[in-house]
Amino acid sequence: MKRTKIVDIFNPELIGSDVCVKGWVRTKRGNKHVQFVALNDGSTIKNIQIVFDMSRFTDEQLKPITTGASICVTGKLVESMGKGQTAEIQADTLEIYGTADTETYPLQKKGHTLEFLREKAHLRMRTNTFGAVFRVRSVLAYAIHNFFNQKGFFYLHTPLITESDCEGAGAMFQVTTLNLNELPKAEDNTVDYTQDFFGKPTALTVSGQLEGELGATALGQIYTFGPTFRAENSNTPRHLAEFWMIEPEMAFYDITDNMDLAEEFIKYCIQYALDHAADDIKFLNDMYDDKLIERLNNVIKQDFVRLPYTEGVDILLKSGKKFEYPVYWGADLQSEHERYLVEEHFKRPVILTDYPKEIKAFYMKQNEDGKTVRAMDVLFPQIGEIIGGSEREENYDKLLTRIEELNIPMKDMWWYLDTRRFGTVPHSGFGLGFERLILFVTGMTNIRDVIPFPRTPNNAEF
Ligand code: ATP
Ligand code: MN
Repeated sequence: MKRTKIVDIFNPELIGSDVCVKGWVRTKRGNKHVQFVALNDGSTIKNIQIVFDMSRFTDEQLKPITTGASICVTGKLVESMGKGQTAEIQADTLEIYGTADTETYPLQKKGHTLEFLREKAHLRMRTNTFGAVFRVRSVLAYAIHNFFNQKGFFYLHTPLITESDCEGAGAMFQVTTLNLNELPKAEDNTVDYTQDFFGKPTALTVSGQLEGELGATALGQIYTFGPTFRAENSNTPRHLAEFWMIEPEMAFYDITDNMDLAEEFIKYCIQYALDHAADDIKFLNDMYDDKLIERLNNVIKQDFVRLPYTEGVDILLKSGKKFEYPVYWGADLQSEHERYLVEEHFKRPVILTDYPKEIKAFYMKQNEDGKTVRAMDVLFPQIGEIIGGSEREENYDKLLTRIEELNIPMKDMWWYLDTRRFGTVPHSGFGLGFERLILFVTGMTNIRDVIPFPRTPNNAEF
C-alpha cells in the first residue's frame, strides 16, 4: 500500500479508508487491552495516533516499539474520540524498521533543555521544537526566493573562495592546500603563496556583495543567498562562524528605495511564515514565548521608524539609561543600544541611517556633510541588527580616495573599481542575516538553535 505522509492524513476525505504511515515513535501508552502509539514522520508537528487492539497483537510484537523506534503501520483511518486529534489509525499490520534502545537513545525522555539538545545536534531535529524550527527555516528560504522572483530579481551565485576581504574586517578563514607543517618559503622568508593552489592567499568569503554589485550593474537587480564565513571569536547568541546571508543589490536604487525594499521584504517573509508554517509557529508560541505571534503581527502592521544615527545617539544619551558600553557620537552601536531604541523607545523596528563613515565600510556613499555615509541598518526587537545595507558610492574618485585613506590594497580592488569606471550608476543593496530572521520568526533566543549544524569557536563536529 502507498504511504501517506502524516501532514496529509488529517484529510476528512480519507476517513474510513485503509492507509499506510511510516515514521518514528514519539510515545507509547495503554493497558493490556489496548495500546496507543504517537507517530511522527517529520512532515508536520502533528503526530498521528495509532491504536493497537491487543486481541490482535501480542505483547512480544509491540515490545520493540519504544520512543525513537521506526515503524510502518497499515490500518483503517477513523475519526478520533481523543481530545485534540481528529483522526486515528486502527492498526492492522505492523512492521518494525529499526529499534531505539531505551537505555542509550538520548531522546528517550521528554523535556530536555535546549543546551542539552545542542550537544545532541545530530539527533535534535527529531524533537518537536527543532522539527518546528527547521520547517520554519525551510519555509522562510522558499519565501525569500519567491519574493525576489516575483519582483524580477535574478539569483546570482557568488564565489565562496575569494582573494578579497569585502568588509575589511579581517576575520576570514584562510583556504590553502599548502602543507602547514612544511610551508614553502620565499626569499624574504615569508610563505611562498605562488606554490599554493590559487597561486595567492585566499579565504572563505565574508559577503557576496562586491560580486553582487558586478551582477547588479549588468542584470539590474540581483540577489545572492548563500553561506558566509566570519572567523570572529565572539561567543554571542547572535553570531556564527558560518551563517547564511541574503544580499540583494539594485542598480538605480537610492537609499530610500533600498529602505522601502528592505521593509517590504522582511514583512513579506514574516507573513509568509505565518501563512505557511502556522502549526509550527503556534507550537513555538505556546511552548516558549506566548508573545511571539503578537510580535510577528505587530511588525507586519507597523511602519518602521526611519531615523538618522545622530538622532538615535541623542535619544540614547537622553534616555538616562545605564548601558554596559558607552554611547557617544561615533560609537558603533551595540545590541543593547539597538534594542533600547526598538523595544523601549519606539516599540517597533527602526531603520537607522547616515552613520559616521569611520564605523562603516569603504563602499558606502558619502554624504555632503563629509562625516556620514548613506548606511541603513534595520534594527529589530529581540535581535538588534538584522539587516545592514547602504547606497553605494558610485563616484570613482570619491571611492578611490576612501580606499586609499583606509589603506585597502588597490591591486585587489581593480575589478571592483571597474564598475565605477565603466557606466557607473547609482545603486544600493543590503545584507539580511538569515539566522537572525529565523531567530525573530521562531522566538528562539540562541542563534545556535536555528541552524542545523552550528559552527562556533571550538564546535564543528557535526
Ligand atoms: P554585527 O554588528 O551584529 O556583528 P555586522 O555589522 O558585522 O553585524 P554586516 O556585516 O552588515 O553585519 O552583515 C549583514 C548581516 O549579516 C547583519 O545585519 C546580520 O544580520 C548578519 N550577520 C553578521 N554577522 C553575523 C554572524 N557572525 N552570524 C550571523 N549573522 C551575522
Ligand atoms: Mn559583525
